[in-house]
Formats: sequence, structure tokens, C-alpha cells
Amino acid sequence: MRVLIVEDEKYLAEALSQLLTQQNYTVDTFNDGEEGLDNALTGIYDAIVLDVMLPGINGFDIVKTLREEKITTPVILLTAKSDVKDRIHGLDIGADDYLPKPFDTGELLARLRALTRRGNEVIVNNNELKIGDITLDTSSMQLYGTHRETSLTKKEFELLEYLIINKSMVISKEQIIEKLWGFDSEAEGNYVEVYISFLRKKLAFVSKNVTISTIRGIGYKIAESAE
Ligand code: CA
Repeated sequence: MRVLIVEDEKYLAEALSQLLTQQNYTVDTFNDGEEGLDNALTGIYDAIVLDVMLPGINGFDIVKTLREEKITTPVILLTAKSDVKDRIHGLDIGADDYLPKPFDTGELLARLRALTRRGNEVIVNNNELKIGDITLDTSSMQLYGTHRETSLTKKEFELLEYLIINKSMVISKEQIIEKLWGFDSEAEGNYVEVYISFLRKKLAFVSKNVTISTIRGIGYKIAESAE
């Protein structure tokens, strides 16, 4: 999953980034409101951790703009203010949750998991995604079939996670590039083909019924075959 952190206290931003990276999230960090908003508007994130008091545009205005632009990415507001009015205001304008500073990192992780799990029936517990006969452990990046297992590289893991979470949809190469390499990256379509082929080999090794199909001219879809 890809998380955007917008926090102007650089030490805190860096600590959060490290924490989330250790949990296998892909993290982009920005220290001011304008850059934060520009990136949030791409819609490529699974969650946004957003400070309220920011240089440029404040967190409240960022959430407001996102919701006006129909970007529904879940937002957790970080606020130094423990004022009830501020919390209510944040939730009213479309934030999904808030965390008063200083906060416990375990609590932030739990809230992030809760937000990214919403409306997502494939997750059976905190760290597992399942489809067909496979289970992807998101904390160890290990892929399990009924009798075999294999480890995934970071990009293979991100790609498989993305396909499983969106299992009902066809995902385009462009979407995969934005998700795995970021909005401004120079990654190309053939990177995607390479990682899809790595993943197919690993799936064929552990699974009897899960495959990635190519929908010509559109993209890829993960599917569970009827035996
Ligand atoms: Ca701040």
C-alpha cells in the first residue's frame, strides 16, 4: 500500500516514514501543504497521514479540496490541538480519523490498518490478504500456497498486493506504474511486464488456482479459476 505523509516537522516526518516503511508500506513524504495537496490529488494513495498546521495550505484546507475534487483517499489528521472543535471540524470536512500529537506509533499503525481495510473484504486479519488458495503475508512479504511458499521482492509484493486488493478490476499498466514507482517516475510499461512475469512464475509455483490474466489493450487482472 502507498501512503502519503504531509508533515512539516522534518524529524517527525522522517520517523513516520521509517516506521511505515518497516511495515512494508510504500511512503512518500512532503513537508509543506502545497506539495502535499498536489500529490494527494493524484489519487494514487491508499491513505494520507496529514498534519493540520502546515506551511502553505493547512491540513483542513487540503482535506476540503480533496473531497471537493472527489478524491476519497482515507485521511488521518495529526493535530497538536486537542481542541474538540478542531477535531469535529476535521471530521466534518471529510477527514476519516484524527490523532492528537504526541501519539503512540502502535496506535497510528492500528488506525491506518483500519482505514485501509474499509470496504475491503479480502483482508482476513491484520497482516494477511487471501485469494483462491494463496495467502499473502503483508508483514513478511511471504506468499503461501496450500503446500508451498516463496518470498517476494518489494516490488513483486507491492504489485501482488495491488492486484489482490483490486481483484474485481482490470488494472492498467499506467496505474501500476503510478502505484509502484510514483507519479513522476520514468518507469515504463516493460517494467510492469517484467514484474508481472516474475509474479506469474511465483504464483505458478505456490498456487493451483490463482493466475494473472492479460486483458489485451487494457491491463491485468488477478483471478481465481474454478479448478
Ligand atoms: Ca505542523
